[in-house]
Amino acid sequence: MQWTDADLPVADARCRYCRHQGDFPHWKSFTFENRRFSLYRCPSCASLIYVPLEILAAAQKIDLAEIARVQAGHIEIGDKYYLEVGYSTDHIALCVLAALAGVPRAEQQRHAFVDIGAGLGLSSYLAHRQFGMDTITVEPSLTGYLGSRLLGLDVYPAYIEDLPASVLERLASKPTLLHLNSVIEHLREPAEVIRALIARTHIEAIAAIVPDGGAIDPNSSFAAMLPYLAPGDHLHLPTEAGMRQFFEGLGFPIFAMRRVGLLLVAVGARQPMTFPDNSEVESTRNRFLRDLTEHPNPMLAGGAAGRLLPHAVLARDEEMLIRLRQLYAERGTPQSFIARLQQGAGWNEIPFNLGPTAFWLAVDAYSTGRSAEGHAWCDLIEVCADRLVTDYPIYASQTLHLRNESRLHRAHNLAAAGEWNAALHWVDALIGSAGDRTLGASTDQIERAQALRVALVAAPGKLGWLCRLRRVVLARWRERSLRRQRNS
Ligand SMILES: [Zn+2]
Repeated sequence: MQWTDADLPVADARCRYCRHQGDFPHWKSFTFENRRFSLYRCPSCASLIYVPLEILAAAQKIDLAEIARVQAGHIEIGDKYYLEVGYSTDHIALCVLAALAGVPRAEQQRHAFVDIGAGLGLSSYLAHRQFGMDTITVEPSLTGYLGSRLLGLDVYPAYIEDLPASVLERLASKPTLLHLNSVIEHLREPAEVIRALIARTHIEAIAAIVPDGGAIDPNSSFAAMLPYLAPGDHLHLPTEAGMRQFFEGLGFPIFAMRRVGLLLVAVGARQPMTFPDNSEVESTRNRFLRDLTEHPNPMLAGGAAGRLLPHAVLARDEEMLIRLRQLYAERGTPQSFIARLQQGAGWNEIPFNLGPTAFWLAVDAYSTGRSAEGHAWCDLIEVCADRLVTDYPIYASQTLHLRNESRLHRAHNLAAAGEWNAALHWVDALIGSAGDRTLGASTDQIERAQALRVALVAAPGKLGWLCRLRRVVLARWRERSLRRQRNS
C-alpha cells in the first residue's frame, strides 16, 4: 500500500465539522484491501473526509444464538482475549472525568451519564462505581451483551441514530452528560444525529474521543496510521478547529480539548470547565483498575491486574507493587507457568496477558536487584511467545514486542553482573531475529542491541563504563515507555 497524490479536487463537498461547503482539495489517497480510498481536506478547518463517503457495512443483525451463548455465561476464546488484553482502558478515566468536569460534584448525581457506543460499558461502570452516576448505556454489538453480563449493566442494544423509546423516555427525565467514545467519526451526519438527541434532553456537556485528522502523517508507517484512518469504517477525521466549530454549531459555547497520541478528547459544554489534570486522571484510572482486579470474573480481574502492572512499575508505586506481586505469587511461579505451557495447557486456562505480565514482573525484579527472578520471568516470556505465535499468531504481536524488549533487559542485567557471554547470547538472539517479519525486533530495538553489543565486545575490564551505558539506556527506555503510556 502507498499514499498517492494525483487526484483532482472535488466540487460541492461538505465538512461534517465546520459546515464549510464548496470545493475540497485532494489530500491523499491510498489503496487498502484492493480498494482505493481518497481523503479530501476541508479548506476551512482542515478536517479530512473520505469522498465519496464510504457506505458503512449494513448493520449486521446479531445472531440470537450468540446472544444466548453470552447470556448463559459461555465465553469464547476471542472474548477471553478481548477481556484480558484486547481493549484499552487508557482514555476511559480521562473521558469520563472530562464529561463530569463542568458540573459541580454535588450536582453530578442529578444528571444522567449517557454512554453511547459504549463497548463493554467500562465508562458507565466507572461513572457509576466511582461517582454514583445514574447511567444509560447503549451498545449495538455483542460486546454490549458481554458487558451487561459481566458488569451487571443495563445495556440497550441500539445505534445512536435509532434509540428505542425506553431510552428516549429516560433521556427526557434528567439533564444529560453525553459520552461518545469513537462514535462521531462513524456517523454520516453526526451533527444531525446529536441535534435530534438535544431536542429530547437537556445535554449539559458532550465528551468525545475522536481520531485527530491533523495528526495523520503520510510520512509515518501506514500500519501505525491505519487504526485512525480505518478506511470503510471512519467516514471523516476532525481536527481541533473542526471539533471546536462542531460543538459551537450544536450550541455549546465552551470548548476544551486534550490530545492523546493520535486521538482528541474534546468537550463541548454549557458551563465553563477545565480538563482534569494528569494526577487526577491517573489516580481515577488506578482506582478503577484496582476495583476491577477484585471482580469475580477471573478474565476481567486478571485483565485489569495486567493493565495496572505497567503503570505501577513505571511509576515505582511501591504500595501497589506489593499488592500485585502478592497477587501474582498466589497464581504461580515462572517455573510453574513454564511447566504448564510445556505440558500443553491451553489458552482457555492460560491468560493471554501472561507474556506481557511476565515482562513487567521481570522489569520490576531487575529494578529491585532480584536478578535471578528477573531471568526466570524472561524465560517464561520466551516460552509464552513461542506458544502464542504457534497457537494464535494474530494475538501475538504485543508478547513478541515485549519478548524482544525482555532480551535487552536481560542482556543488560547479565552484563552488569559480569556475565558477558550470557549477555552476548541474548543480544545476538535479538539481532539475529532482524530479518524475520513475524518474530523480528523493531529497528529501534536492533539499534539498541547493536550499541550494547559494541560495548560488550569491548567490555571485559570496563564494567564501570558498561554500567553507565546501562543506566542511560534504561533511563531512556523508561522515559519513552512512560510517554507512550500517557499518549497511547
Ligand atoms: Zn471544516
